[in-house]
This record gives sequence, structure tokens and C-alpha cells, in this order.
Amino acid sequence: MQFIDQARIAVQGGRGGDGIVAFRREKYVPAGGPSGGDGGRGGSVLLVADSNLQTLLDFKYKRLFAADDGRRGGPNRSTGASGSPLVIKVPCGTEVRHLRTGILLGDLTESGDELLVAAGGRGGLGNAHYLSNRNRAPEKFTEGKEGEQWPLQLELKLLAEVGIIGLPNAGKSTLISVLSAARPKIADYPFTTLVPNLGVVRRPTGDGTVFADIPGLIAGAAQGAGLGHDFLRHIERTRLLVHLVDVGAPDVERDLEVVEQELKAYGHGLSERPRLVVLNKLELLAPEELEALRLRIEARLGQPVLTISAAMAQGLEPLKQAVWQELGVG
Ligand code: GDP
Ligand code: MG
Repeated sequence: MQFIDQARIAVQGGRGGDGIVAFRREKYVPAGGPSGGDGGRGGSVLLVADSNLQTLLDFKYKRLFAADDGRRGGPNRSTGASGSPLVIKVPCGTEVRHLRTGILLGDLTESGDELLVAAGGRGGLGNAHYLSNRNRAPEKFTEGKEGEQWPLQLELKLLAEVGIIGLPNAGKSTLISVLSAARPKIADYPFTTLVPNLGVVRRPTGDGTVFADIPGLIAGAAQGAGLGHDFLRHIERTRLLVHLVDVGAPDVERDLEVVEQELKAYGHGLSERPRLVVLNKLELLAPEELEALRLRIEARLGQPVLTISAAMAQGLEPLKQAVWQELGVG
């Protein structure tokens, strides 16, 4: 099973600056030699892997990336300034393909890995290059070349940092859908009923964090190996669990306990993971009833408990704040 974040972008190297036509002007020389300088090279576009990024979320909004053009040449054979390179940060693990052919151009695995994706165009030649015995005053120059231009497909295999657990019907899928800024595509996976449902939630700093609603977590444990390595990787990679509880259920505290017990039984270090306990469907209880329940559970767990309504989009901001704080991201 693979969750793949995809983005299509276009990259364009800068155009080279034109060469120019100029002649030396000196006080006592009536017609100086040709002195037109060359144009500067256009800037190139580079992709660089950055371990602070987790998703391709930003590429959903910005798609065209063009580096600066080179400048024209100057008099006295001076070469125009080169265009600055454009550096685009991508998450570690990003695969870069040519959009139409699907040819793999590079795989940026480690932080700092670089890939040149569009070279800038060469600068043109100034007339200083065309001086010859036959032509002492050439008027010839060449234009700068266009930079390379490529349509690219970026692909990233996603792993969830935040897992949402809870009994069926607690509202896990609903919560993912109301929090998500983007929904990744799911590559083919045989156990469709056990596929975690993923969403990318935008962090205050701009990038996204992957949330997974992990249905069948407990049923899956019993089926053991059938689940596949990738499924386990999602669970094991999570740094924080959000335990969602339906307050409309007949015995809320018992439900909470059932999931806590199952977590322990599941193993894989999951029960030691930091966890936020969140009471969902707050509108189903009278405010005093909800408050009393919250206080009882807080007292029992010895940690703060949040209340939300996923369906009515209430309490989501404090929940997100608590998640960012636990993950230590701005
Ligand atoms: P999951 O099994 O944990 O993924 O739960 P779902 O997200 O599928 O939700 C189960 C049911 O609870 C659905 O009918 C949802 O519409 C409903 N639900 C989810 N969140 C809320 C909520 O905040 N309030 C109420 N009243 N219903 C909710
Ligand atoms: Mg669900």
C-alpha cells in the first residue's frame, strides 16, 4: 500500500542575455574597435531536498517556476550578469519524472540532494567576437538562447505522523475530511477495507502534516502478516495518536478503556506513543453533562481532554494547536 502525493509543475530556465554592438571611444582614435560584451547566462532551476518538508502541498497552489534571465552585455567587452538560479525545496523522498514520458529524472532522497531540472540559456555574443581583417567594425551580435523548459511530475510516498484511533463510528473519517487541505491518492492495495484514510493538514508554517485514520487497526493485529509491511510502517511512523471518542455512545468511559486495552495488545510500541484524547460529537450532550464527563476522564487519565464536533467543525483550532504543540512544529 502506498499513499502518493503528486504534483505537476513546469520549470523554466532563464533566457540568456543578448550580446551587444558597441565600439571603443577614445579621445584621439576616430573609430575604436568593436567592444560589445556578451550576454549573461540565464539562471537554472534546481530542486533541493529539505528534511523540513513532509508533503507536496505547496505545489498544489504554485505550479510555474521560472529562473531569472541573464542581462545584456555591456560596453568595453563587459559580460552581462547571469540570472540567479532558482532553488525549489522539495521533501526528502521526492521522485522527479518527465510529465509526458514518465522517465525518471532523479530521486531526491537525502536532505541536501540536488537536481538540475532546467538549465538557463547561454548568453549571446557581443560584436567584439566578430572582429576580423575583412571587417574592422562588425555590427554583428547574437541573441541569448531560451532556457530549458520542462513539465515535471513530482511524486512522494507519504507516511503519516499523526494517527487517529477510536472505535468504529467515533468520527475518525469525518475528522480527517474536515481537517484536510488535500487528500492523497491511494495506489492499489489489496486490503481495501483496511486502508488508512489519509489527509494532509496544513501547519501554521505552511507545509503539511499527514494524518491517518487507521481503521481495522485492532482487527488487523489479529490478522497479522496479511496486513503487509507498508501498513505497519504507517502505524509505526506515527509520532502522535489522537484517540477519538463518541460522547453519544451509551458507555463512553468503557469505550475509551476498550481502545486503550487494544492498543496495549497491539504492541509495536503504539501504547507508549503520546496521545491526545478527544471527545467528539459534543453537541449530543448538554453542556454540563459534557463538562462533567470531560472532568471525570481528565481525572482518570491525568491529562487534558479536548472536546470537538467534527461534523459541526467546532473545537478544531484548539485541537490543531494541541497537535502542533505535541509535534513541536510551529
Ligand atoms: P469512523 O468510523 O470513526 O470513521 O466514523 P465516521 O467519520 O464514519 O462517522 C460515523 C458517524 O458519525 C457518521 O454518521 C458521521 O456523520 C457521524 N459524526 C461524525 N462526527 C460527528 C459529530 O461531530 N457530531 C455528530 N452528531 N455526528 C458525527
Ligand atoms: Mg471511517
